[in-house]
Amino acid sequence: MSKKNILKIFIFFSIYTIFNLILFFYFQQDKENRIKLYFQQKVDKLFSEYRATQNGFKMLSNFVCDNINNREDILQLIYKLKTSDDKNRLRKKLFDKLEKYYTLLKKYRFYYLTLYYPDGRVFLRMHQPYKYGDNLYKKNSSLDFIKNNPYLLNEIETGIIYNYQLFYKGKLLALVKTSISYDVLKQELTKLFNSDYEYILKKEFISKKTLKSGHKLFIQSDINDNFFYEETSIKRDRTRVANQTINKINLILKERLKDKLNLDKNFAEAVKVENKYYIVTFLTISPFQQKRYNIGYLISYEQDNTYEIFDSVFWYNIILGNIIIILILIFVFYVLQMNEKLKLIASTDKLTGLFNRNKFYEIISNEIERAKRYNRPLSLIIFDIDHFKKINDTFGHNIGDYVLKTIATIIKKNIRKNDTPFRWGGEEFIVLTPETDINGAATFAEKLREAVENYKFDKVVKVTISLGVAQYDPKKDKDIDSLINRADEALYKSKESGRNRVTIAD
Ligand code: GH3
Ligand code: MG
Ligand code: MG
Repeated sequence: MSKKNILKIFIFFSIYTIFNLILFFYFQQDKENRIKLYFQQKVDKLFSEYRATQNGFKMLSNFVCDNINNREDILQLIYKLKTSDDKNRLRKKLFDKLEKYYTLLKKYRFYYLTLYYPDGRVFLRMHQPYKYGDNLYKKNSSLDFIKNNPYLLNEIETGIIYNYQLFYKGKLLALVKTSISYDVLKQELTKLFNSDYEYILKKEFISKKTLKSGHKLFIQSDINDNFFYEETSIKRDRTRVANQTINKINLILKERLKDKLNLDKNFAEAVKVENKYYIVTFLTISPFQQKRYNIGYLISYEQDNTYEIFDSVFWYNIILGNIIIILILIFVFYVLQMNEKLKLIASTDKLTGLFNRNKFYEIISNEIERAKRYNRPLSLIIFDIDHFKKINDTFGHNIGDYVLKTIATIIKKNIRKNDTPFRWGGEEFIVLTPETDINGAATFAEKLREAVENYKFDKVVKVTISLGVAQYDPKKDKDIDSLINRADEALYKSKESGRNRVTIAD
């Protein structure tokens, strides 16, 4: 393979590689954007499910509290309780009156119903009637309250708190807190949306006492050591067959989400287990419906058939892109090749296959430049077949052509690598000999003359040539034609003085 072809292949391969890299990065980016969008949709979906379910419970809580708010006798009782000396009797009376409402809430799996005054003082807990008198506002903020009273998470289980206001005679009388646990929420979500859900709670919100005391209300999650499950929830649900898969998914996530869970951000992850993709979505949760107080994550597990398509689309794009690149490169290659062929045709003589006069001017210009710049010798030999008309007349034009072709072959056989032969026109030829002075060129001319003279042509007995030799001289040769004229004159002299000889130009 020629150097030029190797270079060409190298260039094409480089272009192909660069295009491929661009394609790869572009479609990689494209794929990542699609996945990002898809995951965002998953987060939005889980958030909507969470909100809708939560809202159902809120309406229930409001409905029950609205009923309490319409009971004049109950409101009056609360009002009296505030100032009365007979608090215990009144509290017992209030408890009895509220019992049917609390029972109704419990039926819908609310656990806790607390009543307190606007200043934060608790006056009744329906779920814990003997615990009262403490102040919910004593600790500065709700977050501090939870942080400093971690037992609260045990007491209320963990879950979402709903607040309600009771009015008496146009004035704020008391506040009501109800709550449902995340566990209930989780079960309701599964019932409504038929997916698998789980929730994990931050260690910092769970009482150290509880963890140590062996109550085993919480157990460390298999996703992250800093997050805990509620034991009741996990014991009930992790016996389900589907959760075999969830266990495997969590094992993978444990590696992947080492730090991500600390960021308190909603996100989704794709996990491949047993050749199936699952989308696991994490939603931060807060008992106060305020984003700042994230106490953990609600997690949904969904088997997924879409995620794989992003990969397929990526490879489909890459393959399609490659086909297009290859087709374009083949086309460019073809056009360049054609161009080269056309150029060659335009610069070659059809009969002998040698370069023609056009190409001669192109090459000699370069050679003269080089000779001048590096001060190197440059010579040329021009020759003409003797009595060629006679050969044509005697043996016919075809034999004439044969002689011309044969002479071209003889030249090619006798020249060196750097020499270039041309068909100057008719039966005249030029051989350009760079790096050769006049003596060298003369010797070479003599060699050519002998080679032709001694060649046994078919039919034609003998063919001879007359030659003229000239060396390029920057002082004498202001242009190319001047050099050729000098060589031509020498050739003319060879003819004049008897043909079949070499003459050196002045
Ligand atoms: P001299 O020794 O003085 O050069 O005599 P000559 O007969 O060669 O004279 P001249 O240069 O006038 O004749 C050249 C002839 O070459 C004329 C032309 O018919 C013939 N010729 C030119 N090109 C071709 C060609 O392509 N094929 C053939 N067969 N003949 C050609
Ligand atoms: Mg001639
Ligand atoms: Mg001739």
